[in-house]
Formats: sequence, C-alpha cells, structure tokens
Amino acid sequence: MKEIMTVTGWQKPQALGFCHCHEHLMLSKGTSFARNPVLCMEDLEKSTEEVRRFLAQGGKTILEAQPGGCNRMEGALYQIAKATGANIVASTGFHKLIFYPENHWIRTISEEDFTRFLVHELSEGMYTDIDTEFHTDTVPYRAGILKTALDTEGLTPVYRRLFTAAARAAKETDVPLMVHIEQGSDPGALLDFLLEQGVSPKRLIFCHMDRSVEEPSYYTKILDKKVMLEFDTIGRFKYHGDEEEVELFVDLIRRGYEDQLLFSLDTTAARLKTYTPDGVGLDYILTTFVPALRAAGVTDAQICKISHDNCVRVFTD
Ligand SMILES: [Zn+2]
Repeated sequence: MKEIMTVTGWQKPQALGFCHCHEHLMLSKGTSFARNPVLCMEDLEKSTEEVRRFLAQGGKTILEAQPGGCNRMEGALYQIAKATGANIVASTGFHKLIFYPENHWIRTISEEDFTRFLVHELSEGMYTDIDTEFHTDTVPYRAGILKTALDTEGLTPVYRRLFTAAARAAKETDVPLMVHIEQGSDPGALLDFLLEQGVSPKRLIFCHMDRSVEEPSYYTKILDKKVMLEFDTIGRFKYHGDEEEVELFVDLIRRGYEDQLLFSLDTTAARLKTYTPDGVGLDYILTTFVPALRAAGVTDAQICKISHDNCVRVFTD
C-alpha cells in the first residue's frame, strides 16, 4: 500500500494511529503575527511538550498546515518528530495572501515556477529561509501534503494561478490537497474549479467549514462530491460550544457521511496550554471531545474512522 511522507521519512498507513488533520505546531513571527499575535509559536520546548501530551493520551500523527514561505518552521518540525516519535506531515502550498508581506515572491511567481516549487518540496526536500526572499537552500526532508487557502475574495487572478499550480502538483505527486475555507467564501465554486483541473475529489480536504454551524446542505453539497471535510471548531468557544460541534458530527454521521469526516484543533498560541495556561491543549480532542462524541452515541468504530481510517484513505484511496 502507498506510504505517507512525514518529516522523518516514509510511514506505513497502518502506523498513522490517532490523527489530527490540520494543526499548527510551530510558526515563526511574520505578517500573520503582525495581524494577530496568537499566530506565532516559536518555542521549541513548549511545542514539543504539547506533542508529548498528545502522544501520552494516545495521539500519533499530525498534519501540520503551515506552508513554506509563510513562516513554516520545517527544521523545528523535524526536531519535534525526532524527539517525540510523533508522525508529523509537513505542508507545502500557500496560505491566505493577507499573511504575506506586500513584496513577497508568492504574489508574482509564475504558475510553472510555483508548480516546480511545490513538486520539489514534496519529492526532494523543503526550501528553507524563504519567508521574505526566495533562497535555493533546502533541507533533506520533504513536505507530504499540499495546503492552500480560499479567502473571501475568491478566485482572483493570483489565487487562480496558485490553485492551478497546486492542482498540477497534486496530480503529479498524488498527495492530498487541503484547503483553508474562509468563512464567507464560496467552497462550491472552488471545488468546481479543482475538479475541472482534474484533481481527484478523494484527495481533497476542505477545512474549517464548521466555524459557524450552517444548515446541512452547506456541508452535504461538498460531501456528495466525495471531498473530506475537516472540522476543528472544537474547544473554540468564541464561535460555538462543543455541544453544537458534537451535534454537527452526529447529524452528518446520521446522514451517512462517516467516511468523509476528519477532526483537528487548528491550534494557535492562545489554544496551546504551554503557551497560554488556560488554553485547551493539543490533547483536548482525546481527553474531552472524543468522550463527548461517545456520550452522544458515536461508536468507537465511527471514532476510529474520523481519527484514523479517513486520514489514511485521503492519502491512499
Ligand atoms: Zn490552520
């Protein structure tokens, strides 16, 4: 069976264990920090400790969602994986353009060059020190997933160019393509675009659509095209309580979508306990949310799908 590329090398799908499919473990100070100070986590010891707590509760794999050129700390991810034994899958791709400086290379790179960049990060090694200027130094470990972002402005010419390159890289390397779906954007239009580009819906993960709980058709029109949905408004009470989140999972399971749901915490410094003592901590899904799902009647087999089987399938099906 196809293996999965982590920062410490290939991993067998059956070794993924309990997965968080959209996380941020390390994030250096950049434009995102200037916009929101909780978007910086650059203390290796603290982030390592969070991963240790995640593993202690039964966690194993983290898909790290910070793309290269946007304050990704690939060296630290490697160190955390080595120190803890966690499987960490790094990202290449692009984030919302508001998280880049005005003169950043990503705004002007050609579709060809960006495709080449993505494929190189996935098949040779990740570039390093590229947050302001582009440098050609690489580390010997690779990204294992594509991370992209749809903002409310939609498919403007620059986003269209970046998404086209990401689609080409996804087809060439056959890795999953995850998309940050900004609240108020149009995921249906993006999905049509990606399918037109020939991306397999089975390799797509649409993230964060649960920021506000919407009526079911908001989710089912995407799910019916076979895309995975990753939900992470868990322990994130400024949006809604966990009760609403549990109800959303229960409802979509009842509608027959248990093979297409994933979860994670999409952490920030405000949510990691080692950075903010009253944060929920990286082990919150294991300690609190999974028991809440169980209490609502979600079975262990269904939890196993959401935490493991579905993550394996998005890489291998
Ligand atoms: Zn994120």
